[in-house]
Amino acid sequence: GLFLKALEIQGFKSFPDKTVLTFGEDITAIVGPNGSGKSNLSDAVRWVMGEQSTRALRGGKMEDVIFGGTVKRRQLGFAEVSLVLDNADRALALDEDEVMVTRRYYRSGESEYYINRRTVRLKDVNELFMDTGLGREGYSIIGQGKIDEILSVKSADRREIFEEAAGISRYRHRKEEAERR
Ligand code: ATP
Ligand code: MG
Repeated sequence: GLFLKALEIQGFKSFPDKTVLTFGEDITAIVGPNGSGKSNLSDAVRWVMGEQSTRALRGGKMEDVIFGGTVKRRQLGFAEVSLVLDNADRALALDEDEVMVTRRYYRSGESEYYINRRTVRLKDVNELFMDTGLGREGYSIIGQGKIDEILSVKSADRREIFEEAAGISRYRHRKEEAERR
């Protein structure tokens, strides 16, 4: 099925150097001491899939995702994350065995998104992941506190989670888009 093959990070949060993590189909956990960057890795996955909420990314402003410097090292000017997914079974609507999604963000506030190295819009990234369970609206990444949220949210919000799981959110999104015109 659809699975994460690799994550490439550069200048994102506590990862100033280019860091490449490769995963197999069997990876189940990332371990490490407090403050070593585990949550930053899940933030990177969330971010590259289009997360726009700085709160969800545990920051105050979007600039906070860029390596902010340490006593030994100057801050960087941009953050870049790429996610490589295995798409051999065409779970994503793209006729490619591998799909790489890249997001870059500059201190100037400029954003760039790429799918397989071609420039795209955020909307294209959102549509790529819609109904896959991945992505910004997906349920694949459940952060600390999210379980409580799922249990307590309004029924309409809860329905959205089930619509995504059932693979029918794109129909509601299309309907809403048509109604706005
Ligand atoms: P825990 O086990 O406590 O949950 P963790 O492994 O999840 O720890 P993270 O929250 O991923 O740790 O990493 C926290 C570290 O990342 C802190 O040292 C923080 O200073 C650093 N960090 C966060 N944002 C930036 C940034 N923009 N630039 C540099 N360092 C950053
Ligand atoms: Mg953590």
